[in-house]
Amino acid sequence: MRAIVVDQQNGKAEGKLTEIAEEDLPPHEVLVEVAYSSLNYKDGLSITGKGKIARKFPMVAGCDLAGTVLESQSPEWKPGDRVVVNGWGLSETHWGGFSERVRLKPEWLLKLPTGIDLKQAMAIGTAGYTSMLCVMALEQAGVVPGEREVIVTGAAGGVGSVAVAILANLGYRVIASTGRSSAHEYLRELGASGFVDRAELAEKGAPLQKERWAGGVDAVGGQTLATILSQTAYGGAVAACGLAGGNDLPGSVFPFILRNVTLLGVDSVMTPRAKREIAWQRLGRALPMDKLDRMISVVPLSAVPALASDIVAGKTRGRVVVDVAAKQA
Ligand code: NDP
Repeated sequence: MRAIVVDQQNGKAEGKLTEIAEEDLPPHEVLVEVAYSSLNYKDGLSITGKGKIARKFPMVAGCDLAGTVLESQSPEWKPGDRVVVNGWGLSETHWGGFSERVRLKPEWLLKLPTGIDLKQAMAIGTAGYTSMLCVMALEQAGVVPGEREVIVTGAAGGVGSVAVAILANLGYRVIASTGRSSAHEYLRELGASGFVDRAELAEKGAPLQKERWAGGVDAVGGQTLATILSQTAYGGAVAACGLAGGNDLPGSVFPFILRNVTLLGVDSVMTPRAKREIAWQRLGRALPMDKLDRMISVVPLSAVPALASDIVAGKTRGRVVVDVAAKQA
């Protein structure tokens, strides 16, 4: 069967489309036939070797998948169950979803939520499920729809696109920060009501600036995150989940100690199962599926290595769904 396998040569990791044998799969209890996976920024880092994602080699790439259970030694799952899996170290320490079949631990699987099919589950994928976790974090911090706007950075990317669509659908006024003016119409269709050029946020400014945002979802990190914190209004909160622009945080404590601003860290990989279930159920209700359709391109497994470079370069738009079962080479 076909898989994207990351291996190391002369100390450099790279992922390629390869044939692997089912007997080589790790000995976990549940065998799943993968219908779809998706391309996330982290998969780009892993396949291009631009980030140290795989911790052992060879490693099947792909941090998420949706498919159907074929065999199960666990009473929790039975053949025919349709499931979705995100994170849990897939593509890092455990073989991941860019593979026609996978063996998984039963506790990693979630039942496909009501109202979402296998393809839609991967249109959402890790990026979209992380956006929902960010929105839930904002809600818990008391950021609710109102007069003041919320900002989404890296808006034309995967996390950003889904965050814009969810927030707009929930009634927030969403400002999208993007480096691509060509994406404005697309982002407006998803629900953005205005734009900020990403170059503006990437510029170092005063540690406390005019209060602009009730809150934000940040997929970019670095100076961008520091800037939006400095522009967040009293009592607001920013959910930080990404580093597409950098992993540093060159800001000051002023937003925290003078404006009661909260910085909310969001990790999707090790999120406990109960919270994942809530996030996925909410995605079924809070994310309009017609908007999700506008975000996706569908590609075969063979297209993944080239697209891995594109996503790291910020060139893909919205979400890339990988049709793992498609037979084209
Ligand atoms: P995408 O590549 O789809 O989106 C990232 C977007 O960020 C780009 O589309 C672009 O948006 C913007 N961007 C890219 N490069 C830069 C740059 N140098 N400076 C500023 N902006 C930039 O990736 P994903 O949406 O899949 O992931 C986004 C981030 O979230 C990644 O860092 C990823 O690792 C992280 N992530 C974290 C998770 C977690 O569990 N914490 C889970 C999922 C993702 P535009 O063109 O609109 O400016």
